[in-house]
Amino acid sequence: GGNQSRLILQMNHLSFLGSYEIELTLIHPHTHCPSSSTVDLSHAPTNSTSLSLRLCLAQVLLVFAKEDSQSDAFWWACERAGFRCNIARTPESAVECFLDKHHEIVIIDGRHSRYFEADAVCRMHCKQGQYVNCVMYAVLYNMSLSVLQRYLENSSVSVCYNELIQLEHGEVRAQFKLRACNSVFTALEQCQEAVEISSEDHVIQYVNPAFEKMMGYHRGELIGKELTELPKSEKNSADLLDTINTCIKKGKEWQGIYFSRRKSGDSIQQYVRITPVIGQGGYVCVLVFLCVCVCVCVCVCVCVCVCVCVCVRAHLLHSFLFCPYPECNSLRHKDRRKESVDVRSISSHSSDAPSLQNRRYSSMARIHSMTIEAPITKVINIINAAQESSPVTVAEALDRVLEILRTTELYSPQLASKEDDPHTNDLVGGLMSDGLRRLSGNEYVFSKSALHNMSQSQLAVPVPLNDIPSSIAELLNEEEHWEFNILELEAATHKRPLSYLGLKIFSAFGVCEFLNCTEATLRSWLQVIEANYHASNSYHNSTHAADVLHATAYFLRKDRVKGSLDQLDEVAALLAATVHDVDHPGRTNSFLCNAGSELAILYNDTAVLESHHAALAFQLTVRDGKCNIFKNMERTQFRTLRQAIIDMVLATEMTRHFEHVNKFVNSINKPMSAIEETSSDCEGQASIRNSPENRLLIKRMLIKCADVANPCRPLELCIEWAGRISEEYFAQTDEEKRQGLPVVMPVFDRNTCSIPKSQISFIDYFITDMFDAWDAFASLPGLMEHLAENYKYWKNLDEMKCKSLRPPPPP
Ligand code: AMP
Ligand code: ZN
Repeated sequence: GGNQSRLILQMNHLSFLGSYEIELTLIHPHTHCPSSSTVDLSHAPTNSTSLSLRLCLAQVLLVFAKEDSQSDAFWWACERAGFRCNIARTPESAVECFLDKHHEIVIIDGRHSRYFEADAVCRMHCKQGQYVNCVMYAVLYNMSLSVLQRYLENSSVSVCYNELIQLEHGEVRAQFKLRACNSVFTALEQCQEAVEISSEDHVIQYVNPAFEKMMGYHRGELIGKELTELPKSEKNSADLLDTINTCIKKGKEWQGIYFSRRKSGDSIQQYVRITPVIGQGGYVCVLVFLCVCVCVCVCVCVCVCVCVCVCVRAHLLHSFLFCPYPECNSLRHKDRRKESVDVRSISSHSSDAPSLQNRRYSSMARIHSMTIEAPITKVINIINAAQESSPVTVAEALDRVLEILRTTELYSPQLASKEDDPHTNDLVGGLMSDGLRRLSGNEYVFSKSALHNMSQSQLAVPVPLNDIPSSIAELLNEEEHWEFNILELEAATHKRPLSYLGLKIFSAFGVCEFLNCTEATLRSWLQVIEANYHASNSYHNSTHAADVLHATAYFLRKDRVKGSLDQLDEVAALLAATVHDVDHPGRTNSFLCNAGSELAILYNDTAVLESHHAALAFQLTVRDGKCNIFKNMERTQFRTLRQAIIDMVLATEMTRHFEHVNKFVNSINKPMSAIEETSSDCEGQASIRNSPENRLLIKRMLIKCADVANPCRPLELCIEWAGRISEEYFAQTDEEKRQGLPVVMPVFDRNTCSIPKSQISFIDYFITDMFDAWDAFASLPGLMEHLAENYKYWKNLDEMKCKSLRPPPPP
């Protein structure tokens, strides 16, 4: 309220992607009932705009030296029209009063030049710089008055009233629009969405700073240019521009994903809304472009990828600002008002539409109850903002997304149904959970008899590493090939392949030089580590470690990987691979937890084995100076190396398998492929690969893939590894039965198990996606071929109902 017209510019800028509304309100000073004089000036072709200009009634200043019938007539006319009116007797008091109240209409008595000259009064006002928002009016016709309008003397109140009303509807409202225009341009200049306005023939008329920033141009380089003169991105489909043009020529809005080329040459993906503004004669007069650079992907679990593309609801006052013809505004009032009434009726009748409104309120309340801005909170806030401007179906889908984000262990896939596939169930249960979580309370058995002294290292049997027999050296010459036969090395080295292969690979990567240790120390270290692998395990023995070391070295030599990591990363990866399963007892984490083993108690049933492998590796290393490969390292470098090794060893734990794979896909595969598609921007790709966070993800993925690469080895090796892991699982099941422990993976019963089925499940569930992602990054066509061939092999056996490793010999 108040005695002045007021313009309230209200921006509910919910987030950088959120909707915002601009409400221009001009409050009626007398009735306080703005709706009675609401003029809806919005011309947006959809019904989501909330712009309306509610006019206040004008204020009038009468500049009359003397009261007479003419000044009285205007006074009463103002009274009738509800306009506030002031009277000034001298030019000076008129200016003073005007500066105080900022009247929209000033009526100056120009009949008697002996009191004052009307145009001189007018010029005084002009000097104050205020006339822009004011309508001057002279009572008498006078040719010399340039800025004054004229009114022939007539002291009828009705005539004065009509005159004032006409002024108010015409010029006063135009002035209101101009004032609003300033505010709206201020809003446009400051808003974070990129806005561009072009003529109907695509000549750029205006861009805001956000647009300049997004596109990398200065506005001087854009204004007056045709859009077609700017370089285009080839990422848009060929017919997209035609589609857009056809749409806007019909006066319809277009919105969708559009790739623009920035000044620097790279393409950016934008959510664009192009709104044609209809001008005189029903033709498009300007186009308003609203661009938001969006690609907020919230990836949940393995494959639920919700792309939140936010519709920015801001039909920015275009008709009102850029269409100067009042008749074109009024032409469209009818439908617009109808549409905005529809909008209001939806949002104001919340009790009639409880699901929509209550849902949003409850969503917002939930978000506000989170006080700490963790990244997930930010994600949830973005989704919430997106919901506000989404259709109901999308908003409801986003509600389900929120539910998952708020309540679920994000990276653990939920199996569809328990009885679906017992092999998958058992593998997943056995590898991805600890024993406690799988059991229902009373099943938990704390078995004293199962407290093995598994952490005790085996006796180290030194092997003569200084003098490597030529047969072994020959085998090692093949080390750089993926098809390298680790089983031959196992046999030739009497089950000590890790030390020999380690020496060869570490020397190729300059590990001793990096660590500043002698080869003798490295030899001792390799021997101690290898001695602490259990030769009695059929799978988790030092041959598996050697196999993982081999795969690690192979991956490290791939160009993409090499280009992403530095030497410390390489050394950390090689050392981590070497120690990653040291002292593995041949039993799973679940087993150790169920059995209440010392290790499970020591590590609180959490990543028991992996914690033990990492901790023991460092204990064994520093215990004896003879094998301490780190002893000459500088402290901070050692700490960085140690941290990297621990992180990689812990990454081999399968409970976090999907987390590691998904983070890799989202942070590395997707951004890299986006750059690849738009340009061959090597710098952009390198900046993704070389960031410390992403290097961490690459290292984790590297060791994870190396650890379970056996399904990607040549068929014979793959079959051997499948036989070994199955045998280890069978032995665990046997022991669980013997000791009355819960059977963690019942399908791995040596009497009933189908090895082909278990391998199919393992590949389907853990291998395919992970290696697809790793191959996309590191380019590993050979591995992928082996994987496909091996998978076919297991499928074939399964179709033959064969449960063993190989088909039965022909009769
Ligand atoms: P790690 O214990 O560090 O070797 O982690 C790898 C996990 O994958 C182990 O729990 C293995 O039991 C499992 N694994 C590796 N290869 C296979 C395979 N061919 N079939 C089933 N499980 C496997
Ligand atoms: Zn392993």
